[in-house]
Amino acid sequence: MASPSEVRGTRFIRVLISGGTPDVVLGGETIRAWGPDGRLVAEAAGRVTLGAVGGRIRWNGSRLLGDTLDAAGVPDLRVGNRYVVGRVRLLARKGEVLAVAVVPLESYVAAVLSREAPARFHPEALAAIAVAVRTYAVGAAAKPRDPAYDVVGSVEDQVFDGMDGVAAVFREATDRTRGLVVRYRGELARTVYHSTCGGRTEDAGSVWGKDIPYLRSQFCDDCADSPVYRWEYRMSGTEGRRVATALGVPPGTDLSIAVTGRTPTGRASRVRISSGGVSMEVQAAEFRKAAGYANVRSLKMEIVPVAGGWRVTGEGWGHGVGLCQFGANGMARRGAGFREILLRYYPGTEITGETP
Ligand SMILES: [Zn+2]
Repeated sequence: MASPSEVRGTRFIRVLISGGTPDVVLGGETIRAWGPDGRLVAEAAGRVTLGAVGGRIRWNGSRLLGDTLDAAGVPDLRVGNRYVVGRVRLLARKGEVLAVAVVPLESYVAAVLSREAPARFHPEALAAIAVAVRTYAVGAAAKPRDPAYDVVGSVEDQVFDGMDGVAAVFREATDRTRGLVVRYRGELARTVYHSTCGGRTEDAGSVWGKDIPYLRSQFCDDCADSPVYRWEYRMSGTEGRRVATALGVPPGTDLSIAVTGRTPTGRASRVRISSGGVSMEVQAAEFRKAAGYANVRSLKMEIVPVAGGWRVTGEGWGHGVGLCQFGANGMARRGAGFREILLRYYPGTEITGETP
């Protein structure tokens, strides 16, 4: 087996897959580890526990190695219960072990796509989302989150659960668009996406306070067959009181919750919570977080008091900015190709090879 540093010609992305714990368990038929100089320093079969002792890594409870190791498995490697293609860099930092998967970029794109989009989507929609995922990843790698890794393998960036169960449709969508990214005036675009816009996408400026020319609101009725195009959430009195408490208003019998501000696309921007003479206006996003993202699926919502609580009705799921995934699928089913889909949700951009 070649030392990982000998692997050439493939672009990699560094994904934090485990951090904040004192040890990490690696699994594989044969597990090998190299030091930063490329020298083989340890080998084991089956399972190895790596612990952090201050700034050094302890191999299987015995040998003390340096602060950085590169591990790989034959035929493959598991980190916890994630199956990883490529190698894993392990770092000891203040008594904790960080595991950073160094994944070939295209394998990462297929793996993320498999967690972020349904397999039943049209191939052109999956191809469009693959390009968005890749663009996000390449952009993140250009501005790493940490000197040791580019992205976090969770919703903070994009969900990466390893290579288990990545269906062929996701690999095909990735292969078909290999190396393609979205650019705006030559720069990588910020290709954000969401499940369902509910009729109209949102301006980036309304959500993040910064206007981005290619992330401006677009009308979209192609997501009308999404299961969350319209939704309703019955918030009980108990739940409303919990949310009010969480947001800093002690709830009495006169608790009221109402939308008091909206963005130009009609999404809630402010929510007022009042009770017993205390009134507080919060960002609608804070209200959504406190009520639960799976309950209040988007800010395109109305809140109406009803007997025993509130009826929250809304449209779409997610922040609404950028590519609408169900809209992309609707467009694909009408015959649109992935380029047309991308240019609709990221207007004014171009789709080009990763290295022009
Ligand atoms: Zn839509």
